[in-house]
Amino acid sequence: MKISRDLGKPAMGRRSFLKAVGSAALLPMLPRKLLASASAGANLRRCRPSDPAWPSQSAWKQLDEAVGGNLIAVDFPIADLKNAPTSPAAQDLIKNVANPYYVGEQPGLTESFGWVDAWATKPSVRAVAARDAGDIARAVNFARENNLRLAIKGGGHSYQGTSNAPDSLLIWTRHMKDIEMRTSFVPQGCERVMKPQPAVTVGAGTIGRWAYQAVTTEAGKYVQGGGCLTVGLAGLVQGGGFGSLSKHYGTAAGSLLEAEVVTADGQIRIANACNNPDLYWALKGGGGGTFGVVSKMTLLVHDLPEYFGSVELTIKAGSDDSYRRLIRQFVSFYQEQLFNDHWGEQAHFSQDNKLHIGMMSHGLDIGEVKKTWQPLLDWVANSDSGCSVEGRTTMACIPARHFWDSLWWRDHWPEVVLPRNGNPVHAVIDDILVHVMSNPAVTFDNRPGASVENAWWKGNTGEVAIFWWGYESLWLPSSLLNDDAQQHLADALFDASRHFGFALHFNKGLGGSPPEALALAKETCTNPAVLDAFALVIAGDGQQAVYPGLSGHEPDLVSARKAANMIHQAIDQLRAVTGSDCAYVSESNYFQENFPQAYWGSNYPRLTQIKKQYDPDGLFIVHNGVGSENWSPDGFTRRA
Ligand SMILES: Cc1cc2nc3c(=O)[nH]c(=O)nc-3n(C[C@H](O)[C@H](O)[C@H](O)COP(=O)(O)OP(=O)(O)OC[C@H]3O[C@@H](n4cnc5c(N)ncnc54)[C@H](O)[C@@H]3O)c2cc1C
Repeated sequence: MKISRDLGKPAMGRRSFLKAVGSAALLPMLPRKLLASASAGANLRRCRPSDPAWPSQSAWKQLDEAVGGNLIAVDFPIADLKNAPTSPAAQDLIKNVANPYYVGEQPGLTESFGWVDAWATKPSVRAVAARDAGDIARAVNFARENNLRLAIKGGGHSYQGTSNAPDSLLIWTRHMKDIEMRTSFVPQGCERVMKPQPAVTVGAGTIGRWAYQAVTTEAGKYVQGGGCLTVGLAGLVQGGGFGSLSKHYGTAAGSLLEAEVVTADGQIRIANACNNPDLYWALKGGGGGTFGVVSKMTLLVHDLPEYFGSVELTIKAGSDDSYRRLIRQFVSFYQEQLFNDHWGEQAHFSQDNKLHIGMMSHGLDIGEVKKTWQPLLDWVANSDSGCSVEGRTTMACIPARHFWDSLWWRDHWPEVVLPRNGNPVHAVIDDILVHVMSNPAVTFDNRPGASVENAWWKGNTGEVAIFWWGYESLWLPSSLLNDDAQQHLADALFDASRHFGFALHFNKGLGGSPPEALALAKETCTNPAVLDAFALVIAGDGQQAVYPGLSGHEPDLVSARKAANMIHQAIDQLRAVTGSDCAYVSESNYFQENFPQAYWGSNYPRLTQIKKQYDPDGLFIVHNGVGSENWSPDGFTRRA
C-alpha cells in the first residue's frame, strides 16, 4: 500500500497530525485502550454522548482549534418547528422546505427527510465543516481515537439516509467547492502509462450545478454529473452515477481519473490507476461513506455536441386493451428509434393508462428529433390504437452550452422569475425551439441574498423534504428488446402498471452506449448488469414535508405501507422477466434483499477485501454498504 502525497503536500499521518495540533495537548483526550489498538475485538461499540468515554469539552475545544474554528454545533430545524414553531429557524424551514439549496445548506438536514419503517433524518452532535483534506484527516483521527460514529455529508441526497447518523460526528464538505479546469491532466504516477486528458478537479462538496456551470457554461465542455442539479458529485461518483446523457458519456464513476481521499488511518492518499489502484476501483461505484472521505476528485471532461434536446409527450389509452397495444408499440419503437446513445431519460407508465415521455437527446437538431418521434405520433394518430395525445407536446433543442446556464434560462423565460399578471409569454428563440415548454422547466432560489444562479429542474421539486413510502429499482437487460422477447416485456410492463406507476430510466443502463463509455464503465465496480441494461426501472412514492412526531405533519403510515407493497409487486412483475434482481445502489430499496449481489454482483468479494484493507475497524459504515453486514443497523455495534 503506497502512502500518497497531496499534490505536493506531504501525506499527513497520525504522527504528523499530532504534531500539527500539538500532541501533548491532544493526548489526554484519547482513551488509552484505543491508543493501544483501534481493533478492540469483535464487539466494538461506538461511543454515545451519554457514555463516560464521550470526549470532554476540552477535547472538543482542541479539535475546534485544530480545524480552524470549523467545529460547529448541528442545528436541527425540524426540532425547532416542533418545539418553537414561531422561531426564525422554524419559519425559515416552513418557507423553504421545498428549496433544495436551503436544505443543502443546513448541516442538520438531508434532501430526503426519511423513509417509513426505515429511517428519519437526525442531526449529528457536532460537525466539522471541513475546508480541506487536513481538516478531514483531523476529524477522522478524532473520531477513530475517541471511538465515535462518523457520518459524511456532501450534497445530502442519499435516499437511504447514509449521510446522517444521530450521536455521531459529521464531516460536512459543503464548503469544499473549488473547481479547476485541467487542459491536460495526467494522474499522479501515471506519467509513463497515460496520455494527458482534459479534466476538471472538484472539491468534495461540489454539487452538479456548480460543476456544470464551470465546465459547460463557462468552459464549453461536458462533465458527467447527475440529472438532479443539487446532487453532490462525491456521492454520485461513489454510487456509480448517471446523468441525463449517460447513454452517450457513460457513468460518473467511469469518468473518475483520480481522487484525494482520507482513509480510516488518517492518511491523505491519492487513488488512481497507478496509486492505490484497488482503492481507486472501490471508489468508482462501491458506495459513498465506505472506503474513506474523498476530499477532491478529478473527472474526465468531454466535448459538447451542438444541441441537447428534450421531448415531453403524454399519450393516453382509452382502455386497458389499447394501453397494452400502446406499450407493445412503444417497446418496438424504442428498440428501433431510441435504443442508441442519442437518447436518455424517462418513459413513465401509470395505472390510469397513460404513457408519459420525458426524454433528452444528445447531438440531434430539431429536424432529427421530430423525425425520430414521427412514427410513434403517426401510430397514435392513424391506427386503431384507441390512444390520443394529451395536452401539449414539446420538442425543443437547446444549444448544449446553455443547457445548465441558469442566467440563460432566466433571460429566455423571464416569466419564470416574474409572472406577468399571471399570463406568461413564451417566445420562439432564434427558431431553435419549435414549441416552447408550457411550464417553466426551471425553478429559482428566491431567498433574499441567494445566488441568482441557484436553479433546479422543476421535476425535482417533489423530492425535496420527502418522506419515502417505498422505492425500488431494477436493471432490465437489453435481451428483452429482442424481437422474440418484446411481447413478453410489454406484457410485464402492462402487468406491473396495474400495481403501481413506474418509469424506465434509459440513461441509467448502458445498453446501446458507445464502446468508449462501456470500456470506462467496465473498469468500475458497479454491478456488471449495468453494461448490458437498456434501462433502470424505478418506482417510488412518498409524502413531502412530514416527519414523525411533528403534530399535524406525521407520515401517513397506512398509505405508506400500502404503497410500499404495491411498488414491490410492480417491480416483482419485472423481476419475473429479468430472472435477476440487480439494482442501482444509489437509487434502490432500503430493504433491498441480498444487497451485495444486487448492487455489486460478482464484484462484491473484491470490495470486501478492499474494505478490510483500508478500514478494518469499520470507521465508515453506512446502511447496506460494503462491510455493513458486520454491524448493527445503527452502525454503533460490531457484531460478534
Ligand atoms: C432528488 C434526487 C435526485 C437524484 N438524481 C440522481 C441522478 O440523476 N442520477 C444518479 O445517478 N443519482 C441520482 N440520485 C442519487 C444520488 O446520486 C445519490 O444519492 C448520491 O449518493 C448523492 O450524493 P450526495 O453527495 O448528494 O449525498 P450525500 O447524502 O451527502 O452522500 C451520499 C453518500 O455518499 C457519502 N459521501 C458523501 N460525500 C462523501 C465524500 N466526500 N467522501 C466519502 N463519502 C461521501 C455519504 O456518506 C453518503 O453515504 C438522486 C437523489 C436524489 C435525492
